[in-house]
Amino acid sequence: MVVKNFQLTLKHAIHGIEVTRLYPEVLMDLPAAERGIHQLDVRTCIGCGACVRICPNDCIEMVTYKYGNPLKNKKMKFPQIDYGRCMFCGLCVDDCPTECLTMTKDFQIAGWNRDDIILGPDDIAVGKYSDEEAAKLAEEARIAAEEKKKKKAAAAKAKKAKAEAAKKGDEGSGEKKE
Ligand code: SF4
Ligand code: SF4
Repeated sequence: MVVKNFQLTLKHAIHGIEVTRLYPEVLMDLPAAERGIHQLDVRTCIGCGACVRICPNDCIEMVTYKYGNPLKNKKMKFPQIDYGRCMFCGLCVDDCPTECLTMTKDFQIAGWNRDDIILGPDDIAVGKYSDEEAAKLAEEARIAAEEKKKKKAAAAKAKKAKAEAAKKGDEGSGEKKE
């Protein structure tokens, strides 16, 4: 057995066949379906929290982040992931309705304490807006919310006026209720 192993080592050495890698300098090619650290498209995340609810290890928390799209994500809440708890099952990705949460091939996570491996929206974000763009979107969202509020108030007023008119109509027709 020892001789056989020695022969194998010699054969690999002669033919230049690599049997080990100089990790971390040399990384192996990972399969397309590799499930590593998440990536979040902050432009399309709607802050629904479906990823939080489906996670079996309770490792996602929704936190406030200002570089997303307030027209889509009204509360501006985005997922933050605790990689000390994550088991890379991918259920959060499968359940995301807008497909904004994906998994990358990056598997290298290390830190000196637990907080170092909790990654917030800024750590996993792609497509984040600049300060100017974020401010412009926030203003657009404010105007849209105001418009919505005005429309709602007008609709409620119209409904009330209609109900009052109907009531007056009943009274005017002299109908008596027993
Ligand atoms: S991959 Fe699995 S364990 Fe990790 S955050 Fe998503 S649902 Fe939770
Ligand atoms: S990542 Fe997807 S599932 Fe999670 S809050 Fe955003 S839209 Fe919802």
